[in-house]
Amino acid sequence: MKHLPAHGAAIPGGAAIFQRLYTRLGCRGRPPRFEVEFYPYANLMHTIRLREETACVRLSDALRGAPLPVLEAAAAMLLSRLYRRRAPREIVTAYRAYTVSPRTRRRIARLRRARGRIVATGPRGGIYDLAPMFTRLNRRYFGGRLHRPRLGWSSRTWRAQLGCFDPALDQIVMNRWLDRACVPRYAVEYVLFHEMLHVKHPLRAARCGIEAHSLKFRLEEKRYANYDRARKFLDRLP
Ligand SMILES: [Zn+2]
Repeated sequence: MKHLPAHGAAIPGGAAIFQRLYTRLGCRGRPPRFEVEFYPYANLMHTIRLREETACVRLSDALRGAPLPVLEAAAAMLLSRLYRRRAPREIVTAYRAYTVSPRTRRRIARLRRARGRIVATGPRGGIYDLAPMFTRLNRRYFGGRLHRPRLGWSSRTWRAQLGCFDPALDQIVMNRWLDRACVPRYAVEYVLFHEMLHVKHPLRAARCGIEAHSLKFRLEEKRYANYDRARKFLDRLP
């Protein structure tokens, strides 16, 4: 695609929803002017930005067609964050129920597939080759039965993430930062092993950015032989 639209699509009645929730949450003072639009975020992300008298709201367009209470819930959560109010519990619960429903997950997976990027690099980095590493870990910890997704290195160094498994694209991308001689093999292996556990538990574990790791996941992760050493090395990172 040559160019992406700079703006999303205005949501009819969107401003009214925010006005209403502004009052309902008990935010004080004159409400800003709300500009509300659907925006093509890659996942269920929403943002609000206050600029003088105007609040610019972008709701993930994965919510297109969502029932009114879900839009209201997204509004309540954004406003409560911005104005430090507590969002009513029933609203939060309803929103969670919507986001974890299989139908919503499928919808998001479809959007991500359409928008996400297939990693351009192969498994072989300058120092480490992920393919044999995957095979070895698979044999040792998964009885060789784990499905192998596409493997690659990030094209740029990431700041916040060491690796990521994207179930929609069926790929593991590792932070290029790890592909260096000064990074020990056991640390790289540990990150790959962690992502492989996400392959094994695709439903429970959302994307790494969200860090949804169950206790079971954490326990299983400790089976990695160099777990403590690897954690110690990676925890030193700035
Ligand atoms: Zn993770």
